[in-house]
Amino acid sequence: MLPSPFEFERPSTIAGAVRAVGQSGDGMFYSGGTELLLAMKMRVIHTDRLIDIKGIPGLDRIALNDANNIEIGARCTHNKIANDPVIREYVPALSSLCANVANVRVRSVGTIGGNLCFGEPHADPLTMLAALDARLVLIGPSGTRVVHADDFIRSELETVREPDELLTVIAFSRPTGPVTYRRFKHGERPSVNVAMAWSLGVGERTIKSARVRVGALGSRPQPLKAVEDTLQGISVAEVRPAIEAALPTALDELEVNEDRHGGADYKRHLAGVLLLRNADEAIAAAGSA
Ligand SMILES: Cc1cc2nc3c(=O)[nH]c(=O)nc-3n(C[C@H](O)[C@H](O)[C@H](O)COP(=O)(O)OP(=O)(O)OC[C@H]3O[C@@H](n4cnc5c(N)ncnc54)[C@H](O)[C@@H]3O)c2cc1C
Repeated sequence: MLPSPFEFERPSTIAGAVRAVGQSGDGMFYSGGTELLLAMKMRVIHTDRLIDIKGIPGLDRIALNDANNIEIGARCTHNKIANDPVIREYVPALSSLCANVANVRVRSVGTIGGNLCFGEPHADPLTMLAALDARLVLIGPSGTRVVHADDFIRSELETVREPDELLTVIAFSRPTGPVTYRRFKHGERPSVNVAMAWSLGVGERTIKSARVRVGALGSRPQPLKAVEDTLQGISVAEVRPAIEAALPTALDELEVNEDRHGGADYKRHLAGVLLLRNADEAIAAAGSA
């Protein structure tokens, strides 16, 4: 099926894009189009106007800035992130995650910004970005605001972004410990995914703090508080037994939607298995640090 007729604009600045999308009628930003064009062709989404953001310079930049923050432009494709030297050096797990999203065609045009803004619950990147405590920078007609990755999804396929706000940059502190990610997928997208990020002091084998997020079970990634609490302040050698002891309570904390990806008990079990695999990788990485 073809989409209903729409206008097309290609602004060259962020301000121009925000203005264009907010003019009368319902404009939408168009990045790689891998979600949007499919939905328009299926007539699930209709828009009067597409605002192509590919012509805006600077939105596809990746850098480690002077404040030790890694910044990823929202227009970066999965392929670009997978192959970027900064990401490969400081967050290899994110490079590997992006190298395994979808298929080669989607990875070469689909962007991290489009992935986040679509709000699909069975997505890969948001779970890791939430574990990294990433901030998402939105620019709209009334200025700039920053939303934590944990707070970005309002409900399934709905984010807190206003329709005329452009996601420009995703930023997070350069990790000081291992960052790991595991997912289980038997269809197109993950049924369950788990990301973990530890903060370690230089040359230390004690965990200062840990963030663990489980995704794809509800509309947004969920923290495993019981595991985070148990990891804080313990040595790397104590991690596995500590997680095993905390796991039953931690998994009970999760809200789980039962759907075609499986029942609640099954998904909780998978989350536990993935978490322990993350832990084994993190222990090995911390040991070799
Ligand atoms: C076959 C297939 C398999 C897939 N498998 C996976 C998978 O395994 N894991 C996974 O995580 N994902 C998967 N995806 C999703 C894929 O990652 C996304 O389709 C892609 O990243 C979306 O990016 P895009 O640039 O094409 O977005 P678009 O389609 O251009 O846009 C998507 C939405 O975001 C909005 N938008 C885009 N950019 C911005 C911005 N900067 N600011 C504000 N709003 C914006 C658009 O208006 C639209 O509403 C799959 C998709 C397909 C089609």
